[in-house]
Amino acid sequence: MVTIIRNAAVYQPEYAGKKDVMILGDKIAAVGENLTAEFNGAVSVTEIDGTGQILIPGLIDSHEHIMGGGGEGGFSTRTPEASLTDLTMNGVTTVVGCIGTDGITRDMAALLAKAHGLEEEGITTYVYTGSYQVPVHTLTGSVMKDIMLLDKVIGAGEIAISDHRSSQPSFEEFTRIVSDVRVGGMLSGKAGIVNIHLGDSSRLMDLIWRTVKETEIPYSQFLPTHVNRNEALFQSCIEFAKEGGVIDFTGNEDIDYWETICDEVRVCRGIGRLLEAGASENSFTISSDGQGSLPVFNSKGEYQGIGMGKASCLLKEIRECVNREGLPLETALRGITANPARILKLSKKGHILPGYDGDLCLLTEKGLELKTVIAKGRVMVQDGKAVVKGTFE
Ligand code: ZN
Repeated sequence: MVTIIRNAAVYQPEYAGKKDVMILGDKIAAVGENLTAEFNGAVSVTEIDGTGQILIPGLIDSHEHIMGGGGEGGFSTRTPEASLTDLTMNGVTTVVGCIGTDGITRDMAALLAKAHGLEEEGITTYVYTGSYQVPVHTLTGSVMKDIMLLDKVIGAGEIAISDHRSSQPSFEEFTRIVSDVRVGGMLSGKAGIVNIHLGDSSRLMDLIWRTVKETEIPYSQFLPTHVNRNEALFQSCIEFAKEGGVIDFTGNEDIDYWETICDEVRVCRGIGRLLEAGASENSFTISSDGQGSLPVFNSKGEYQGIGMGKASCLLKEIRECVNREGLPLETALRGITANPARILKLSKKGHILPGYDGDLCLLTEKGLELKTVIAKGRVMVQDGKAVVKGTFE
């Protein structure tokens, strides 16, 4: 299977000019000009004209409730699973699945089964072990064992802190989990990332700050998420990023609505502020929280109503970064390509370079609308329509 994409504006995510990109099997074979492939007719070569289009790495969504989540408003508010096209139609070719508030009716066996299902359907999947809860609900009975022995497990999460839905972990419980995840990652050559769900409380990032200041655990062990959920939290997260940590923004498809009921920080403005404050362009990721519930609580923690995250927010945030915040496209793109690839140690993801996985998206130059998605060398979306669908779609 050989595909050549011709004459697209290539963002690796760094801008590399107008180039051809050749995919051989499931890998990128070459990036250059006037590329040719000669197999004496034995192999058919598919050509895609990228003229007037932008070629970017396939999106990496580092926090997505692939088997559904939610339930904070009762059983009827449990959210549905992500279908293949919920992801591919929004450019996502690599996803990290997580559980969420409900670690009882959602467990690791089901999460892994869902991740394997999506992988069979054509994209790349990983998972975090655990849910909001502490002690962490694992598959093997040990966080370290899950990370070391289950290929798809690259860390733990989303462990909730500073939230009325968390297990209220003590400092000792928290640091024990983080150190187990760290050592499990080291012993298996994985990231060993702890994906932390940050809640709305005034304790903000306190447990993380204490851990990096009072123990030997480095900033790079954490990927705190929902950093933009309120202004006070975001300010603490800017400091964390300036110290060398990586923070994860949660995209929001309906920010115009949410801005009216809370002080959530708009992702594009947050990234702009982060860079203005002197943090590195490697210091942020954007994830979708896709299929996760977006419950609204009042100041007493009482449930008010619910929405659901969507993977479509990722490219929407990139458009806002460029059109509203005036950030360079290559900077914004880092948040869904190179940066998650690095912090999650996905060494063949997030860049358009020879030897990397053949995960690519073509966007229109004007409007940045998604046209084509290729996952592991296979065209999944063409002309904005899904040509490969999930088993029951
Ligand atoms: Zn969360």
